[in-house]
Amino acid sequence: MTVDLRSDTVTKPTPGMLEAMFSARVGDDVFGEDETVNKLEDKAARIFGMEAGIFCPSGTMTNQIAIKCFTQPLDELIADQTAHIYRYEGGGIAFNSGVSTRLLNGYRGIITAEMIEPEINAENIHFPHTSLVALENTVNKGGGSCYTLDQIKPIAALCKAKSLKLHLDGARVFNALIKTGDKAEDYGKYFDGVSVCLSKGLGAPVGSVFLADKQTIKYARRIRKVFGGGWRQAGFLAAAGIYALDHHVDRLSIDHAHAHILEEALAKCPSVASVLPVETNLILFDTVEPAALLLDKLAAHGIKASATDKHRIRFVLHLDVHAEHVEHVLKVLKSL
Ligand SMILES: *Cc1c(COP(=O)(O)O)cnc(C)c1O
Repeated sequence: MTVDLRSDTVTKPTPGMLEAMFSARVGDDVFGEDETVNKLEDKAARIFGMEAGIFCPSGTMTNQIAIKCFTQPLDELIADQTAHIYRYEGGGIAFNSGVSTRLLNGYRGIITAEMIEPEINAENIHFPHTSLVALENTVNKGGGSCYTLDQIKPIAALCKAKSLKLHLDGARVFNALIKTGDKAEDYGKYFDGVSVCLSKGLGAPVGSVFLADKQTIKYARRIRKVFGGGWRQAGFLAAAGIYALDHHVDRLSIDHAHAHILEEALAKCPSVASVLPVETNLILFDTVEPAALLLDKLAAHGIKASATDKHRIRFVLHLDVHAEHVEHVLKVLKSL
């Protein structure tokens, strides 16, 4: 048996999703004529209480477009030091937008208004102009830690008072919503922009949407074209996204339940030094021996995972990890 716990991006389209893709009505999206893309963009915007959306090939592209939309060259943005936009998007903040980054030390990637406020630069020609705060929910490098809306509200209020834009990297925002019970439509009241990945836990093969007000999305279409992301009959992919939003959101609770089962087993495993408390579908744990050695032992039993540090391993639960796979991992952990 093979169990792939490396990432929630490894999922394959389900038969229902493939059927939706094959029967999609498509057109040229650069002309705005792909009705399935238009439907996905409207649907996602409505879910989050935003005016409009733009469908893009990746979450990196939606985040980078958002940063470009919300800043001018020489500006500065504020984010946690674990932020995906800073660590895992190839330095794109500086390259694409000519913007510098002020990093905070949050707890598992979660930052507060009190932490942000002193880092907002005063108006002075020596200082870059602070124009954007970016949050991540859930936090990838925080091990799936999440913000509640009540934690977001004071940050949104601060941003409004200081005329800063607030962007959400919501690659796994539905995992956060399932965990917290907050309503997606309320996010539109607090964020200027939201990026949502359809290709992570939702199980679509490709794609993310960037959501904002109409004027921002109009400009985002120009930026997406410049980034080489203007695509044509993308409706085949948008159909997978629509299917994912309709069928794969509620089931994320299964991934969370599986993560809790594995968390318990890992805590009892002699090869495991400690497990970061599980909040959603990601598990980060520290190993007694070097992580590479433990990964080899797991691989010998068909379990694929990845090391995020010399003594740290990440397990990710997703659509293609079923109860029998979890059973297999439990058995292997007991034997280690
Ligand atoms: C995966 C991910 C993204 C986007 O990644 P792509 O591979 O470019 O789609 C953005 N932010 C976070 C937190 C992610 O985990």
